[in-house]
Amino acid sequence: MPKPILLSVDDDSDVLRAIERDLRSQYGAEYRVMGSDSPEGALDLLKQLKMRNDSVALLLADQRMPHMDGVGFLQEATRIFPDAKRALLTAYADTSAAISAINQANINYFFLKPWDPPTEHLYPQLDDLLDDWQASYRPAFQGIRVLGTRWSRRSYELRDFLARNHVPYQWIDVELSANDPETKRLLEVIGSDIANLPVVLFQDGSKLLEGAPAEVAQKVGLRTRAQTDFYDLAIVGGGPAGLAAAVYGASEGLHTVMIEREAPGGQAGMSSRIENYLGFPTGLSGADLARRAVVQAQRFGVEILSPQEALGVRIEGPYRIVKLADGSEFSCHALMIATGVQWRRLEAPGVDRLQGAGVYYGGGATEAMSCKDETVYIVGGANSAGQAAMNFARYAEKVVILVRGTSLAATMSQYLIDQIKETPNISLWANASVTEAHGDTHLEEISILCSDTGKVERVPASAMFIFIGALPRTDWLAGVVERDDRGFLLTGPDLIRDDHQPKGWTLERDPFLLETNIPGIFAVGDVRHGSVKRVASGVGEGSVAVQFIHQYLSKV
Ligand SMILES: Cc1cc2nc3c(=O)[nH]c(=O)nc-3n(C[C@H](O)[C@H](O)[C@H](O)COP(=O)(O)OP(=O)(O)OC[C@H]3O[C@@H](n4cnc5c(N)ncnc54)[C@H](O)[C@@H]3O)c2cc1C
Repeated sequence: MPKPILLSVDDDSDVLRAIERDLRSQYGAEYRVMGSDSPEGALDLLKQLKMRNDSVALLLADQRMPHMDGVGFLQEATRIFPDAKRALLTAYADTSAAISAINQANINYFFLKPWDPPTEHLYPQLDDLLDDWQASYRPAFQGIRVLGTRWSRRSYELRDFLARNHVPYQWIDVELSANDPETKRLLEVIGSDIANLPVVLFQDGSKLLEGAPAEVAQKVGLRTRAQTDFYDLAIVGGGPAGLAAAVYGASEGLHTVMIEREAPGGQAGMSSRIENYLGFPTGLSGADLARRAVVQAQRFGVEILSPQEALGVRIEGPYRIVKLADGSEFSCHALMIATGVQWRRLEAPGVDRLQGAGVYYGGGATEAMSCKDETVYIVGGANSAGQAAMNFARYAEKVVILVRGTSLAATMSQYLIDQIKETPNISLWANASVTEAHGDTHLEEISILCSDTGKVERVPASAMFIFIGALPRTDWLAGVVERDDRGFLLTGPDLIRDDHQPKGWTLERDPFLLETNIPGIFAVGDVRHGSVKRVASGVGEGSVAVQFIHQYLSKV
């Protein structure tokens, strides 16, 4: 926790040094003492301190300074730090000016120069002022601050990225908190740059305009570049399957790297409560599972590159070369594809345009709080939709689940159906499909086709969350790894047709259970053809595959 600041301003450098020395010797343990030899410089410094979210306890200014006197400076400084105690340093001749300033400019005290001995003429009065200041002092938030608007897609993407990567941040909605005095002061300090939302303020005083996840990731020290150019095992995808493979691989001595495009945790990271994962009788959130797994993987020395995307792979003898989105490459002996699946798009006018501005794919964990007292629509009838409905019901006034079928029975687990029935603010709208999303800058209404009546109803809506199934995104492996007609990766027995090994297969043995048509390239979890789409099965496959990798590596 940084110490609050005592700032003195005096154009006479000898006096400035003397006051800084006296302040530091008495208050240095609890406060940071800073000084400036001009009021203009001090105001610039105060603006920087505001951007860093530092606290200023005391402003102590000499009255006689060129360009701007002490009273003028204190008045300006108060606009930036209104709670700081304000004091003047004056010569005897200026006493009457100082007295009238006490009323005029709300100055708390004036000290006469020289103030020797400080134990009599400085510290007792400052002790009083600082005690007073401490009584109402609340330490400011320490960490990244993101300024944006609720309906901005860029702001949403950045908040979602920070939340999923467990980077603590403070969100300031510049529209919603436009009347908050502290926000006003911050916006004034940021000036015209505020047009470039989202603006990200870092603790070192720097700022990023139109902050994009990749830039913020670099700034907060998330690693996106490989440390070396060769690994025993490279894993693409940081969901449960990839994380399990990373933990098992590294714990068994393999030099392992994991590449994750968004944030470790994958789809599971979006789940508000996983209730069927062994060993957690009361369930656990996907974010918690992801956080624990990442710590475990890092403990075993796994290098995690995130956000980073694998864009291609090529084979050079025993080496599998992976190409990354930043243009860099590394090679490995064994490669594991654990890229899961991504949400299917809802094809309806307005949906793409309003994505991130009221229309969201997946859990939108960062959005739940913003939906307080609103009506939220959930599109889809599988477990993921049910979990989201339960989560939003804690904040929203009303949650409506839209399903095309007649009920949830065929698509959702019974325990979730029961929970939904018992939650009074969740309702089910069956035989319903969204045909259009309306709104200029953000979602305002949706049109719903009711297949039983054939009518289209247009209803007000400020948030719609879409959970309509998912598909693998494996185009980057086309021409190298065999896929089924929907893009899922074929492994083990699925590759053997009419007793024949896959085309181009050069080894005597058949592909291992979770191995693709390329020796040493494995596929696990949801991306694998025929996989069970569950956290536990992904974790199981990721762990088991490491045993095949050992066998493969023993003969490379
Ligand atoms: C909302 C929700 C709730 C769920 N609830 C449950 C539940 O209660 N119980 C249960 O058992 N299952 C649940 N599931 C299903 C479960 O989450 C998935 O089966 C599981 O996450 C699959 O794990 P995976 O590692 O195979 O893939 P994913 O979790 O999909 O992870 C794949 C990862 O790969 C990354 N990636 C993709 N392509 C690339 C690339 N080219 N380069 C780098 N990275 C890439 C993605 O960003 C992603 O993080 C739920 C799913 C959702 C969406």
